[in-house]
Amino acid sequence: SAQLLERSQEPLLVDSHKTLLTYEQADQLSQRLASVLLQSGAKPRDRVTVQVEKTPQALCLYLGCLRAGLVFHPLNSAYTPSEIQFFVGDAQPAVVVCDPEACKTFEQGLGADGSAAILTLDRHGNGSLMERANGLAPQDYSQPAPEHGSVVEGDKAQAALLYSSGTTGQPKGICLSYQNLASNAKALIELWGFKADDCLLHALPIYHVHGLFVAVHCALLIGARMFWLPHFEAGKAVQALPDCSVMMGVPTYYTRLLAQEDFSADTCERIRLFISGSAPLLSDTFHAFEQRTGHRILERYGMTETGMSTSNPLRGERRPGTVGLPLPDVSLRVVDDEGKETAENTPGHLQVRGPNVFTGYWRLPEKNAEAFTADGFFDTGDTASISSDGYITLVGRSKDMIISGGLNVYPVEIEQVINQLATVKESAVVARPDADFGEVGVAFVVRDGSVTEQEVTDHCREALANFKVPKQIQFLDALPRNAMGKVQKNRLREHLNKSRE
Ligand code: ATP
Ligand code: MG
Repeated sequence: SAQLLERSQEPLLVDSHKTLLTYEQADQLSQRLASVLLQSGAKPRDRVTVQVEKTPQALCLYLGCLRAGLVFHPLNSAYTPSEIQFFVGDAQPAVVVCDPEACKTFEQGLGADGSAAILTLDRHGNGSLMERANGLAPQDYSQPAPEHGSVVEGDKAQAALLYSSGTTGQPKGICLSYQNLASNAKALIELWGFKADDCLLHALPIYHVHGLFVAVHCALLIGARMFWLPHFEAGKAVQALPDCSVMMGVPTYYTRLLAQEDFSADTCERIRLFISGSAPLLSDTFHAFEQRTGHRILERYGMTETGMSTSNPLRGERRPGTVGLPLPDVSLRVVDDEGKETAENTPGHLQVRGPNVFTGYWRLPEKNAEAFTADGFFDTGDTASISSDGYITLVGRSKDMIISGGLNVYPVEIEQVINQLATVKESAVVARPDADFGEVGVAFVVRDGSVTEQEVTDHCREALANFKVPKQIQFLDALPRNAMGKVQKNRLREHLNKSRE
């Protein structure tokens, strides 16, 4: 990280009025924060648990952890006290940095034997963390802090502990090494053509792989700037976009942009690339976006465990409904239940191998044993198919697959058919246990106009084999989603269980 910070007076973070942080300031502050963390009792490889709002200081805290060889462990700022207690109990940090209002919760979570130091950082970038950093004399931090975890065992050392989003169950702790982060960042910069004169619209949270690694690293490692928005607000994004050349977002950002009447091709005059990921981008959104702006959104696929694994091309065909091709240094394959590679266009378990793949789950040996094959591939838990020309299509999570009368039903296929109806905004299909078929599909549908259960069923009957037609249709005002725009199918299944009780 050090060489890129030498870009001195160049801005790293900007907003519409001013420079929020220059490269030199990021360099200085991250050094100071590294020193504060080490002085607070953290030793290389210890975890630093961070639950704070998205501020320039929070970004420097991440960089400070990298410099000091400490393991950065960010938490979703929306987590509740009981969730926080699970995470600190599991991660056992040496230092916690949190909003002043959350101190009590963290103290309780750390328990009686909790020896972790607690420092604060509020939404304005103030608190005991910054007070200590500002109080350091130059000699206290001018000693370069260890770079790249070199104090321990080089690039293989752990740089971050990120928890998965918890879409399919309890979030899992994922250990990422310096090498994982660096290899993925270099590959993406090349693949997406990042240059120092780019300006990236950064409206994503920085507790998740998308906003923290994919977005920040692409800008930081090439010396580009980021237009920094603490949250995504469509109106603010429309104002910011004319100053930006690249935007990264989850699909909901793009649908919200399209809902803004003043969002037009003019707004995107300087933009060279829109990138989407973390959840499926509907073909409808892709086409509506192209019509409005002339831009074909580039969809890519990754997960906390692997960083990015596939991407549609910068030059070449961006195929809607697919997540593109494997990254150059990533091997991908699709296998059946016996581990045999499937034929073209035939769905199976998507497996990944490469320098991007994490070193293992945090304190979950049984999950590690399940997740890796004998020949070193990681089983993603996603079901996908590969076309004859190598494009990957995700058809759902393996856990969400429906087996009806012994036949596989892929939720995404049914959802796409239902979404074809002009009177349907979106849909999600989940399994319901059934005495006769083992499982049957239930479709949750969000209307866009008036449509009846019968009309949805009739449309499915026309387009799908009978065993795929959902046996129950339920209308909702909106699908339950988390902050990354992922549909929470577990909550839909709970909803079904409740309504049957
Ligand atoms: P958990 O593992 O705890 O259930 P999670 O898998 O949602 O949570 P993340 O690591 O944040 O946690 O998300 C990775 C998942 O997001 C992938 O496995 C995939 O299912 C989904 N995903 C990412 N990008 C895309 C995409 N472009 N299209 C469809 N799904 C995507
Ligand atoms: Mg997952």
